[in-house]
Amino acid sequence: MPIIEVAIAVPLNKTFDYQSDHEVAVGARVKVPFGAKKVIGIALANKDKSDFNKLKSIVEVLDEMPILDKPILDFLFWAAKYYHHPVGEVLLAAMPKNLRLGKEAKIKKVIGLPLKTSQPDFEITQEQTLAIEAILAEQHKYHGFLLHGVTGSGKTEVYLRITQEVLNQGQQVLVLVPEIGLTPQMIARFEQRLKTRVVAIHSQLNETQKLDAYLMAKSGDAGVVLGTRSAIFAPMPNLGMIIIDEEHDGSFKQQSSFRYSARDLSFIRAKQVGIPLILGTATPSLETLKNAMDNKLTRLTLANRAGGVVMPKVSLIDMRSHTDGALSKLLVEKMQQYLSKGKQVMLFINRRGYAPVYFCTECSWKSECNHCHASMIYHRHINRLKCHHCGDEQMPEQACPECGEQSLEVYGYGTERLEETLGSHFADTPIIRIDRDTTRRKKALAEHLEKINSGEPCIIVGTQMLAKGHDFSNLAMVGILDIDGGFLSTNFRATEYLAQLLIQVSGRAGRSGDQGEVAIQTRYPDHPMFHYVLSNRYTQFASGLLKQRQSAMMPPFAHQALLCANAKNKQNAEDFLREVAGLLKSVKLDTVEIWGPVANSIEKKADYYYFNLYLQSNDRKALHQMLATFSQHIDTIKLKNKVRWYLDVDPID
Ligand code: ADP
Ligand code: ZN
Ligand code: ZN
Repeated sequence: MPIIEVAIAVPLNKTFDYQSDHEVAVGARVKVPFGAKKVIGIALANKDKSDFNKLKSIVEVLDEMPILDKPILDFLFWAAKYYHHPVGEVLLAAMPKNLRLGKEAKIKKVIGLPLKTSQPDFEITQEQTLAIEAILAEQHKYHGFLLHGVTGSGKTEVYLRITQEVLNQGQQVLVLVPEIGLTPQMIARFEQRLKTRVVAIHSQLNETQKLDAYLMAKSGDAGVVLGTRSAIFAPMPNLGMIIIDEEHDGSFKQQSSFRYSARDLSFIRAKQVGIPLILGTATPSLETLKNAMDNKLTRLTLANRAGGVVMPKVSLIDMRSHTDGALSKLLVEKMQQYLSKGKQVMLFINRRGYAPVYFCTECSWKSECNHCHASMIYHRHINRLKCHHCGDEQMPEQACPECGEQSLEVYGYGTERLEETLGSHFADTPIIRIDRDTTRRKKALAEHLEKINSGEPCIIVGTQMLAKGHDFSNLAMVGILDIDGGFLSTNFRATEYLAQLLIQVSGRAGRSGDQGEVAIQTRYPDHPMFHYVLSNRYTQFASGLLKQRQSAMMPPFAHQALLCANAKNKQNAEDFLREVAGLLKSVKLDTVEIWGPVANSIEKKADYYYFNLYLQSNDRKALHQMLATFSQHIDTIKLKNKVRWYLDVDPID
């Protein structure tokens, strides 16, 4: 009787052996007893002996054929090893929930092939032609490209044409987009153009739809899989190309449990399959720029906007002498000009809610969350103070809890208050607010976007959600408010992120027809970053940052890992990391530096205290050797003082 080695989603670095009366396909799901429960696992091997005796038996084999085929299994094993994450958790996280729950692997609703497709009426530009030819010349083998094209330069057009070529050869294409960049518009563009099934994989789908999309990718029925980060794990037997749009975007990094970077993993998948990889963006990350400099990526440039459209004019509005309100007079005047010409205007403010501060004008008491080291944000429509870290809500106090005076006021602006203020300046103009509060309901975002796409003059107020990917043809002007916090951040990547954000947001303006305009309100008009942003010289700015990182030996010139511990008792979290640091230092690896433990920038979140230990090395191998030692010994420390912890390889914040 064969013995089956099974991976189970538990936070342990091992697999489990079970008895079976027949062999099981490697990569198939099995139901097995585990403790008092029955759980779903993945069969990894058929063996004839085990190191353990008294094996339990498999309860049920759920699949005759593997759910995870060999190429995907190899890819997932690689990822588990690189991120030092338990293999069972990695394997099960890579499948849609319905498969994890043991539901049948059967497509419910096959989508039809498109009846007709339509081609654009423009000619592609010389730059686009060169990019397409360069990529297609490298088919059927691994080759990495950076498609560096300014906003509106027609990168998506390049994706569509190379995708069509790959499809013509009977192969599939995987397109990854940022979480909030996967707009209905992007999906529609692929569906309208390509004579194949396009399946989307993203969080707005229900579980049945997610399973169908996964299975159509696996069966080869879908020619194109368009998805957010988890789509990197979609099984695609005829995969011919991977495209990562907006590669610099932070949402490619998963920030909980299995902390992988879909962008970084795309290199591994493309190499394993032996196919081209295209990273597209207007604002390459420093990691990607370095890869291009080291000739690990071939750089293709689209320096101009397509269709003869020019880049928007960008200017600063000096807010140093401004004391009152969110909007400068100059910004209001500019908005008026565009609106009176029937154009749309967008205001970007990266904070939802009404006001970020609720405080006492007498004694300067400030409302803080009882569970976090963070301010409570006032939300007017529900008249509540809300913590954006733990979600706790509270009625606003009437009198100051500190001095008893009735002198409590709000300070600062969020989207909700900005919308209200705009209403008083522009009484007759529709205002469309897009943030997490106004898009919670399914389809709400799609409805808002549809309104904007109708082209009617309006003011759009939005957060990050609007920063990238959108192509609103009647949007002529963008105003950027309150980005100064980015200059004060302790994250060493903050200026890189800020420059990317400004350029991406600016890139929404004037994407067809007349030149657009961007106005940035700031109290730091002399900051050197603006010098580059105003003249659209991201590359020069980023090169300067790269030099700084090199001389400071920071990523991407060094490799980092972060070990975060958290506990209700502050001392326990800190002690745990001290002990880990001691363990790591006993591994004699001089090339790995260890810093910490240090308190997280927000020390307390939802009643837990967070501490970090940073590991850094110029030598990736040495770093990983140390992490492997850590993984081996961690369980012995953990038991002692009940802390939660996670490891983040290549952390981004
Ligand atoms: P990006 O992805 O670089 O932001 P898009 O591919 O969305 O740019 O292109 C921006 C706009 O320009 C779209 O409306 C697109 O249809 C149009 N476009 C793309 N290529 C051309 C071209 N060669 N000539 C004219 N218009 C083009
Ligand atoms: Zn007071
Ligand atoms: Zn809180």
